[in-house]
Amino acid sequence: MTTESAFETARAQLRTAVDQLGLSENDWQTLSTPRRILEVAVPLRRDNDKVEMYKGYRVQYSTTRGPSKGGVRFHPQIDLEETIALAMLMTWKCALTNLPFGGAKGGIAVDASTLSVRENERLTRRYTSEILPIIGPERDIPAPDVGTDERNMAWMMDTYSVNAGFSVPGVVTGKPIVLGGSLGRNSATGDGVAISTREALRMRGINPVGATVAIQGFGKVGYWAAVALENMGLKVVAVSDVNGAVIGFENVSQLWSHFLAHKNLNAPGTDRLSNLELLHLDVDVLIPAALSDSITGLSAVGIKAKIVVEGANAPTSPEGDAILNDKGILVVPDILANSGGVIVSYFEWVQDKQNYAWDGDEVRTNLNRILMKAFNEVEEMATSRKVTWREAAHMLGVARVAEAHKLRGLYP
Ligand code: GLU
Repeated sequence: MTTESAFETARAQLRTAVDQLGLSENDWQTLSTPRRILEVAVPLRRDNDKVEMYKGYRVQYSTTRGPSKGGVRFHPQIDLEETIALAMLMTWKCALTNLPFGGAKGGIAVDASTLSVRENERLTRRYTSEILPIIGPERDIPAPDVGTDERNMAWMMDTYSVNAGFSVPGVVTGKPIVLGGSLGRNSATGDGVAISTREALRMRGINPVGATVAIQGFGKVGYWAAVALENMGLKVVAVSDVNGAVIGFENVSQLWSHFLAHKNLNAPGTDRLSNLELLHLDVDVLIPAALSDSITGLSAVGIKAKIVVEGANAPTSPEGDAILNDKGILVVPDILANSGGVIVSYFEWVQDKQNYAWDGDEVRTNLNRILMKAFNEVEEMATSRKVTWREAAHMLGVARVAEAHKLRGLYP
């Protein structure tokens, strides 16, 4: 992960959108500046009594269209610049899907796999208490991201609630169901990636049934995307995790059962590939669902897929993007393809506000409705303005935030 590049890429994408929309220099100033940044030291007492200090961040990039919203990432290479870039992407993602949110992101520079459960809990709680003054259901609502899950959200919700003196389920989304989580939130990002894949294939005149897919990453996004794609009749031929890729498994559930039992992907009958070989497989669809910058100027050259659907945030560098476009590969950009997560986070927040739980069908129907609307708008914009889908998605998101700025006016 080259963190500087995620930041520069996000700014370059914004600059392009501002120019393509014909916005002013004043608009560029208001849109390109993160509104609130908090950097905190997070002390952790390890189980062996040693105290270690970690850097934590929360960036509220925009609150113009509503409370800021975005995940909390635990990853050793996270830094302030990358957090800003990811918070900026959340802003356009929420605007593109018309959710009443701004954008945020947070995280701790830590390798969560080195922590015991108790250490992870202490770190999560201390981080929550450090950022507590700036979060809340009306201010900023964290959620899971790389390296965090519903268990972290439960601890965050509890820490906030204990300090408030009453239960505040709406302070985070992606919680366990019994604490006010939403049905369908766990699989939502992967479900959205699968819907985007199916629709992109249809638009390219390829029958989704029997179409082949390679997925880089077998975490919260990659796994659920694989499950949903298989249910739609596609053939998932290869997946990878940090240790490399495998091909030749019977189906996703066989691979998953093996993974749960053995903590590796080497199920019986599979062959190993490198991560790069996975990217270069001759498949209909490639889904990068790991970290940023996996499709670069170097790795993009050998990509043979007809469609790339970005499950991860910022998986493609500008050089990689240019190469994919030159090859005529359709790229469904991150802020559209992986928006299912924050869409169902929105449903969770609404359910918490109303103390009224939806059933699974209501979640699925509304996810499909909101995602398909954004999908069709991006396709129309790309066609009418003769721009890439990434440019179209950014134009739609950025235009909505710019309009909201104009209507609210500048105080004082
Ligand atoms: N971390 C996810 C994302 O990047 C979800 C954010 C949320 O649900 O607030 O979109």
